[in-house]
Amino acid sequence: MIVSPKTLSGSTEFISSLFTSFPDKVCGLWAIFMRCNMMQINEKQINRFWGKVDKTGDCWNWTGQTSCGYGCVSIDYKTRRCHRVSYYLCKGDIPSGLNVNHRCDNKLCVNPDHLYAGTQKENIKDALDRNLMGSSKLSPEDIPKILSYKGSKMYLREIGEIFGVDRKTISSVLTGKTWSHISGIKYRNGDCNE
Ligand SMILES: [Zn+2]
Repeated sequence: MIVSPKTLSGSTEFISSLFTSFPDKVCGLWAIFMRCNMMQINEKQINRFWGKVDKTGDCWNWTGQTSCGYGCVSIDYKTRRCHRVSYYLCKGDIPSGLNVNHRCDNKLCVNPDHLYAGTQKENIKDALDRNLMGSSKLSPEDIPKILSYKGSKMYLREIGEIFGVDRKTISSVLTGKTWSHISGIKYRNGDCNE
């Protein structure tokens, strides 16, 4: 996404595979490696990026700016989602047409061990497998999770499936018609883009 490591031919995948089990150290090594090769994200930006990551827990939470529940960072005048930047820095190019999904359901998490490149369908299936589908009523804890899907390309019905409610219920949450005391959204028909 930021720079194409394809220029490095097969070596990219090999080197990245060597380090995947040591993401903390690797990200630095990977960054140095990449800097020698068409680096468009510089060391300062990389240091600033990891400086805003709280690595004290299992999930590495982004503590900087957010948008639609995701961590966001500006690199090369473009706003990028932090989990995608982390994936790129630690694992390499994101295969075209694939999303970077969370195994941990935590949209703020940038721990590369919790990220995988997959389709939207796989993302939904994973969420269902993790028993997110439960009671037919929403709980206050569901609201931020639902909001984090705002701006994704998922249908309301699909989001509803994850939380075990219908599309109208999801729509009401996203527009602030319901649960506004939790979401802080004033009821209007605005959309959150990216
Ligand atoms: Zn996580």
